[in-house]
Amino acid sequence: MNDAAGTALLLKPEDVPPVREYNAAGRSPFLLTCDHYGRLIPRILGDLGLPEGELARHIAWDIGIAGVAEALSKHLDAHLIVQRYSRLVIDCNRPPHVASSIPRISEATTISGNEGISREAAALRRAEIFDPYHRRIDEIIDQRGSAGMPTVLVSLHSFTPVYAGIARPWHIGTLYHRDAHLPPLLLKLLRAEGDLVVGDNEPYAVSDETDYTIPVHGEARGLVNTGIEIRQDLIAEESGQRRFAELLARIFREIEATLFAEAKD
Ligand SMILES: [Zn+2]
Repeated sequence: MNDAAGTALLLKPEDVPPVREYNAAGRSPFLLTCDHYGRLIPRILGDLGLPEGELARHIAWDIGIAGVAEALSKHLDAHLIVQRYSRLVIDCNRPPHVASSIPRISEATTISGNEGISREAAALRRAEIFDPYHRRIDEIIDQRGSAGMPTVLVSLHSFTPVYAGIARPWHIGTLYHRDAHLPPLLLKLLRAEGDLVVGDNEPYAVSDETDYTIPVHGEARGLVNTGIEIRQDLIAEESGQRRFAELLARIFREIEATLFAEAKD
């Protein structure tokens, strides 16, 4: 959003754009998204009232997923689109009308920089961070459609190993709601690995109130889709990120062969 002089009101020239793309010419049917890729905060918002320790925690971003997403994009030759600002600024996987879109509290942490936020300030965050990201995903899906390229939407996330004092046993989980096609295939192949604790809609399921990317870009547009959640302690280091990227690349190649063999029947 711009003021009368055409200057952005939230993101200034010293702030990076929210959207970043990797491998935009990738030929894979998989379109990868990463809503919680980054933990930047627009300069004008300071630290949102939080110490650095809080801003490095899972409440600010999906720890480890950036490395997995970038490597997976390379392995699969897949277009990856990511959003670089912290979900504490605005959560790009929440409908903007829900309270957790700009959280006043996350797990047990109060986000003082979000308390009492005006409607105008919230609208700016949406206009300069949330909207450009989702507009770009829309455009990419449109362009792929016009070019006759199939799109399978994969939304990549990571989850904290302990939430509100409860340990989570899963290593990786599929997240879905209305797609009954891809998630079962993915579950089957992940379980066949033998050494993974696989969550079926765990640690949580997709819903219209708690999610945005899958319901809006996947389900509403009729794309085959799934979300993936990887436990953060397994991908905190580069070796783990590499391991999961290689594992998912192998599994997605197999899924691609299955999906497109069925399409030819
Ligand atoms: Zn996430």
